[in-house]
Amino acid sequence: MLASYAVRVEESRGRLRDEPQHPYRDAFQRDRDRVIHSRAFRRLENKTQVFTRRHSDHFRNRLTHTIEVAQISRTIAAQLGLNEDLVEALALVHDIGHPPFGHAGEKALDAAMRAHGGYFDHNLHALRIVEHFEQRYAGFPGLNLTFEVREGIIKHSRDYNAAEHPELSEYLLDQRPPLEAQLIDLTDEIAYNTADLDDGFEARILKLGEIRERVGIFARFYREVETKYPQAPEKLKFNEALKSILNHLVTDLIENTRARVESAKVATLDDVRRHPERLARLSADAERERAETKKFLYDCLYFSTPLMPEKERAEEVIRELFEFWMAHPDELPRSYQEFAKSDPLPRVICDYVAGMTDNYILAQHKKFCGTKKATG
Ligand code: MG
Repeated sequence: MLASYAVRVEESRGRLRDEPQHPYRDAFQRDRDRVIHSRAFRRLENKTQVFTRRHSDHFRNRLTHTIEVAQISRTIAAQLGLNEDLVEALALVHDIGHPPFGHAGEKALDAAMRAHGGYFDHNLHALRIVEHFEQRYAGFPGLNLTFEVREGIIKHSRDYNAAEHPELSEYLLDQRPPLEAQLIDLTDEIAYNTADLDDGFEARILKLGEIRERVGIFARFYREVETKYPQAPEKLKFNEALKSILNHLVTDLIENTRARVESAKVATLDDVRRHPERLARLSADAERERAETKKFLYDCLYFSTPLMPEKERAEEVIRELFEFWMAHPDELPRSYQEFAKSDPLPRVICDYVAGMTDNYILAQHKKFCGTKKATG
């Protein structure tokens, strides 16, 4: 049963190019399937989330992170009576615009673009992937996704200024996105905050004592687990605490969002869109605990000494390859040389680099920049 304020597939604004209805899959189900069958989606498996494959096969990569976000998002959507198929499509596509090498890669690509007067934004890049770069259908370029999925790709995690982004004018930038899209940003955070504690602990970069000392929500649930299972091995107590955190934050998000919808007297999708602020939100207490966890991860994991050599290497690889192709555009693949006839060269290189997996960019770097020092 859909809530009165959910997105209804029969009221979708549709696709850029009309297509006949499928006999038994509705438009959002087809969009979800198109995302799963795209090349960009498969590449997520070889893109770093926080840890590269070098560390262990157990750690999350962008694909397994994406699956976790989809699972959590569907649970929340079902409880709030939202459109689960749209939510699933948005969750599966939410990280598709990320470059190789995680945070470091994104920073390096943005820096390379800024040196040439541009910038890199992964939401905008995701839109370019689904509109242009995926070439799978004879009848149209891109995936020809519905308006609601494209809007969610752009608006799930931030607001764009209409004056700065005239190219996005069709996406109703003066309005909030539907709750289906609002959810994704929060679910993403819940998923990676808990997963990164898990992987960071497994990697022995984060120590139990330090997590208990600095992450209030973890300390609270770990104490409960110790009372209940005093004899359990430390790793299982850790897992139980993490599971409780995940459950607590998800429940809080469901309950707080439902309460905000009720107190705002929101009854329709249009009410959601025209409400002055986003309605999907954690309670003040949970929000404080979320922010504390995130700060801890930034301080003690993402920029920790053990991960530094990899980060520096990632930045070097992206910077050097970008400058190599700026100086030698004839070394780009033929299709990208074609793009460069109509688009600025830095933009074309940026699109090419952003689409690469960790493995592929390292091979490209070896091929083109491996002898850089010898040749000056
Ligand atoms: Mg994500």
